[in-house]
Amino acid sequence: MKIGSMVGDVFRSLFQRSATRQYPFDRKDAPDRLRGKLHWDPEKCTGCLLCVKDCPAQAIEIIMVDKANKRFAMRYHLDRCAFCSQCVVSCRAGALEMSKEEWELAAAHKGKFMIYSGDEADVKRLVELAQAHATGTEDK
Ligand code: SF4
Ligand code: SF4
Repeated sequence: MKIGSMVGDVFRSLFQRSATRQYPFDRKDAPDRLRGKLHWDPEKCTGCLLCVKDCPAQAIEIIMVDKANKRFAMRYHLDRCAFCSQCVVSCRAGALEMSKEEWELAAAHKGKFMIYSGDEADVKRLVELAQAHATGTEDK
């Protein structure tokens, strides 16, 4: 490249709008079809497990909490999720959707990537069980 043309490029770029954005200070709305964090509606879930079966990343667990009342909780492994949306397509009950608002999902601690959804008391119990399992203090 000749010095002359290089100087010309530099000079032109001084007067052009920047092609990049000053994220996170300069933000745009996410596109409507963006696939962000998975959300689950326990009221709609029938426990059919199609989402679990069809997930290529084994990122979803649907846990039976109360068989008689057909109550479930979900454990979502965000760090495994490929954001392919297959589970949303597979769910005939319309219980799953991917948020277009929640897509900045990085975290410094791995624990943030295991997300429980469902009734508050059920989730608390499942978290306690998981912690006991991790520390080897669960009931034998
Ligand atoms: S979006 Fe894809 S990878 Fe993520 S939980 Fe659903 S099926 Fe699994
Ligand atoms: S596919 Fe839908 S209804 Fe079936 S277990 Fe998954 S979330 Fe529940």
